[in-house]
Amino acid sequence: MRTPAVHEFVIVMSGLFGLVIGSFLSVVTSRVPRGESIVRPNSHCPKCGNEIQPYDNIPLLSYAVLGGRCRSCSVHIPLRYPLLEATTSGCFAVIAWRVASPWVIPPFCVLAAGLIAVSVIDIDHMRVPSPVLFVTAALAAPLLLLASVETQTIGHLLYGLFAGVAGFALLFGIRQAHPEGLGFGDVKLVALTSFCLGWLDPRGAGLAIAGVALLLGVALACAFSVVRVARGAATLKARLPFAPFLSAGALVAVCIGPTVVKIWIG
Ligand SMILES: [Zn+2]
Repeated sequence: MRTPAVHEFVIVMSGLFGLVIGSFLSVVTSRVPRGESIVRPNSHCPKCGNEIQPYDNIPLLSYAVLGGRCRSCSVHIPLRYPLLEATTSGCFAVIAWRVASPWVIPPFCVLAAGLIAVSVIDIDHMRVPSPVLFVTAALAAPLLLLASVETQTIGHLLYGLFAGVAGFALLFGIRQAHPEGLGFGDVKLVALTSFCLGWLDPRGAGLAIAGVALLLGVALACAFSVVRVARGAATLKARLPFAPFLSAGALVAVCIGPTVVKIWIG
């Protein structure tokens, strides 16, 4: 049983770790679509090419100290970098706050990081890169297995697998019927989120959580489309990156799903 002080400490540490991972995600989201290595070379200014020193690469703090400009050439650093760091940090902290056991924090933070990365890439390039999804799944699955062993909830894994297959089959069917409306990346993304969300409840209610996540994602995408059309910014037929909405639905479901199930089933 965690005391409130330990719980708060875990939330703060998760948030701080999220800042570092958010900084790494800005490298992932700019280099993966270009097929570049995410390890080498070190980060550098896109205008003057100067390597960014470690003391200028502290999440949020460096951006604030440098006033959002490169130290060498004063070119503006896009606001997306601190936003990505703050968003990842916020997601990690909320996950640490909401999940039932500390063992469950790592797999769902991995999921959150993967979803944030594919969402940004989908917004930029209108595609969901499979390698990011595969790496996310390859890290999250063993962490969920470890969480299952440590919390003696091996049955969760079976429900996760079941929800993952169900999510894949449903989206794959929809894609077969409307191939122009849904990318295969979105199908794989829903399989991954459904697997993780399905893991959350041992009685199969995780499948319902995965369903709620999907509905939330679709509702968010519809609401966004309606607002965009109403403001004259796009037509109804305009393409929309779907991953950010599916990801937002999934992350909200991670945080509220188990509580909803508890109220619903007990
Ligand atoms: Zn520069």
